[in-house]
Amino acid sequence: MAKDVLVVIEHENGSPRRPSLEALALARRLAASFGGRALAAVAGHGVGDIARRVASSGADTVYHFDHELLGQYTPDGYRLVLEPLVRDLSPEWVLMGHTYLAQDLLPLVSARFDAPVVSDCVDAEVDGETVVLSRQPYDAKLVARIADRGPAPHFATLQSGAFPADELPDAHDGTVEQRPVDLSPDRLRRKVLEVRQAGGRTVDLTSAEIIVAGGRGLGSKEKFQQLIGQLAEALGGAAIGASRPVVDNDWLPHDHQIGSSGQTVSPKLYIGVGISGAIQHVVGIRGSQVIVAINKDKDAPIFNEATYGVVGDAEELVPAIAQAIAEARQS
Ligand SMILES: Cc1cc2nc3c(=O)[nH]c(=O)nc-3n(C[C@H](O)[C@H](O)[C@H](O)COP(=O)(O)OP(=O)(O)OC[C@H]3O[C@@H](n4cnc5c(N)ncnc54)[C@H](O)[C@@H]3O)c2cc1C
Repeated sequence: MAKDVLVVIEHENGSPRRPSLEALALARRLAASFGGRALAAVAGHGVGDIARRVASSGADTVYHFDHELLGQYTPDGYRLVLEPLVRDLSPEWVLMGHTYLAQDLLPLVSARFDAPVVSDCVDAEVDGETVVLSRQPYDAKLVARIADRGPAPHFATLQSGAFPADELPDAHDGTVEQRPVDLSPDRLRRKVLEVRQAGGRTVDLTSAEIIVAGGRGLGSKEKFQQLIGQLAEALGGAAIGASRPVVDNDWLPHDHQIGSSGQTVSPKLYIGVGISGAIQHVVGIRGSQVIVAINKDKDAPIFNEATYGVVGDAEELVPAIAQAIAEARQS
């Protein structure tokens, strides 16, 4: 029997968020193996254009819920529109990117179906009628393979970068359907009083395509700024990331930290300079398509993760590499 997969789309500044598009990429893959459809749900206020974008990005049908009380996310508001949709569509799976919103919302919805959420998944295989999901608990020291054997719907969140959105088609002829919304303020137990932008956040590393990251091996704030800045500029303004000691030493604000207590990134290219490759850093970069490591210690663990490794002193290598990149980009 054909089985559908539903993705709950998050959006920001009028666009679907990348973790949601990555979930859509997996939804299409699973739906194809089940002979079903990749469906999507968008809730908000004035989200028709976002729904159309998701339909042209690979969703077969996008259901959107438009209401001023959905303009700000609240768990009750979203649950009150999603639960009936899931009951109506009876999808086999409901997927979201592993974001703060998903961690708040999806257990609330899944509890209404007496179902668990398999969270932060990094891989999915179809085994006959079953989907086997992989998670990496304890900072990726273990791999847990999980098959939810309960009745559908099943619920899962997906680690950023684990299911590349590049697999989505450039154009798709999906349909869009607006669903009615029956909401009133007394049905929402949480009210958003004010939304404040976090101060000083200039870089969203999770959506960066190229990241140059520096570590303690650069020796000082000045060397960090000089060498990492030079390389990032040569690459046309790459985003700048850091390991934790860089942040702890106040060479950069915490926004730039990558790893288990920082951001999880999935760029096309990650270059790590003077970073040893401790597991707490590495779990944040494994979604990168290409990893380049520059380290003077040939036995540094980062080389086990790297697509390309360069052994040598960053102070000598980085200016030469930056110059070669700049020349190559000019010609
Ligand atoms: C609960 C917990 C959470 C953590 N969360 C994070 C996290 O989110 N992100 C994170 O990054 N870390 C995190 N850490 C810290 C982590 O364990 C490591 O201590 C940290 O990642 C090491 O940073 P580093 O590689 O910059 O420094 P180091 O481990 O000191 O490595 C420096 C590297 O630079 C190389 N080097 C030195 N000089 C040069 C040179 N001139 N040229 C080239 N290479 C050179 C050295 O060979 C070495 O490999 C966490 C730790 C804990 C306990």
